[in-house]
Parts: sequence; C-alpha cells; structure tokens
Amino acid sequence: MSNKPVTVVAVDGPAASGKSTVARQTAQALGWVYVDSGALYRGMTWKVLREGVDPTKPAEVIALLPRLTWEFFDEQHAIRFTIDGEDPGQQIRSELVREAVSDIAAIPEVRTFIVGELRKMTDFGSLVMEGRDIGSVVFPDTPFKFYLDADPVERARRRAAELAQAEGRGDVDQVLHSLTRRDQKDSGRKTAPLQIPLGARVIDSTKLGIAEVVALMLADLRQAKVVT
Ligand code: C5P
Repeated sequence: MSNKPVTVVAVDGPAASGKSTVARQTAQALGWVYVDSGALYRGMTWKVLREGVDPTKPAEVIALLPRLTWEFFDEQHAIRFTIDGEDPGQQIRSELVREAVSDIAAIPEVRTFIVGELRKMTDFGSLVMEGRDIGSVVFPDTPFKFYLDADPVERARRRAAELAQAEGRGDVDQVLHSLTRRDQKDSGRKTAPLQIPLGARVIDSTKLGIAEVVALMLADLRQAKVVT
C-alpha cells in the first residue's frame, strides 16, 4: 500500500442518468482510476443466480457471501474483478441480473461487504467512483461530490438507445417501467438509499451533453485546485 495522498470524486445518481460515461470520461481526463460500484452489486447478483440461490431470500444470499473470493485489478485505469476466478463480463448487464440487482443491493450484509471493498480501492490511487451511495456512505468525507439527475423519460430514452445497440432491441416504455421500479427500490430501501449526498453539486443532465457535464465537473475540481 502506498502512502501517497489520494482523492476521491463521488458521482451518484439514479439509473441511466449518464453517470457511468461522465465518471469514466472524468477519470480519463484526470488520469485517475474509474470505479463502477454498481458492477460489484451486479457481480454479486450474477453469482447468486449462477449458484441457484433465490435473490429474494436474504439469508441464503448472506450465507453465500463468505464462500466467495473476489479479486480486483486495475485494467487501464478502470477496476475489473473476478469472483471465484471468473470474470462475469457482460453477463452483469443481462436482463436477469438487471431485474434482481436491487433486491441484492438492499441486503445490509451485502452492502457492508461491498462498501468495504470499495473503500480499499484507494490503494489503486485517486478515484472517480460512481454509484448510489458513494458521497453519502462510501466516502462521505470527500469534498468532491456530484449528483447527476435527468428527467426519467430522457433517461429511459438514453438507456433504450444503449440497449438497442447492445441487444438489438430497446423499448422506451418498457425501459421506463423497469427504471422507475429500480429507482423506487433504490430510493426506498432502509440501508443507504439513493439520495443527494450532503454537500453534493447537483447537475441536471436532461439538456446537457456528456462533454458539458464533464467540463462542469472538471471546472469545479480545478477551482478547488485538485487538478490544474
Ligand atoms: O449503476 P448500476 O445501474 O449498474 O447499478 C445497479 C444496481 O446496483 C442499482 O440499481 C442499485 O440497486 C445497486 N447499487 C447500489 N449502490 C451503488 C451502486 C449500485 O445499491 N453504489
């Protein structure tokens, strides 16, 4: 472990608010490490389903936790991981995982484990980490917090376009329904619900392009003299 001081930029927001692309590009611009915390919740969900565990039975999910071996790697300044030696790859983006992930993420024991792993990632250096509770729970002391939001219909449009590219089909109404359900579960859960972290700069990206949002964030970081 190095003793070099590290900085964390927290980027939170609801599903399809653009935070992944924005966080990834901000990390690239800074030369810092990008962390998609949702990928860990999705990875856990993938493993749960693969092991034949019912995601709606928390006791069974919790029993699986200590049996798993996770390893994390810095691959070109983005964190990648394996569980029991396997890289879940794009399977974490499947519909099955998508529909079950909010149930898994609502289990406090799962969150405690994943939050612990996320905090250790500062060993890789300064981070831009995106998620739902990064500024509120994982790194509440970082002065650099952003909360990205966008109109739900616009978010559904963007996600449907992504799905159409990746899977050949993307229905806006269906996506809107799925997003709204996931938002409700993520905002309504008892442990670490989706919320605007104290002190976060809220950016509404409904009418802004990715480059404009990244520029706003970099300008804030420059003003704070974190970067030149
Ligand atoms: O960001 P992404 O949409 O991939 O996240 C998938 C799910 O993981 C979210 O819907 C949420 O349930 C959970 N999550 C979370 N806390 C985070 C990141 C993701 O609960 N920090």
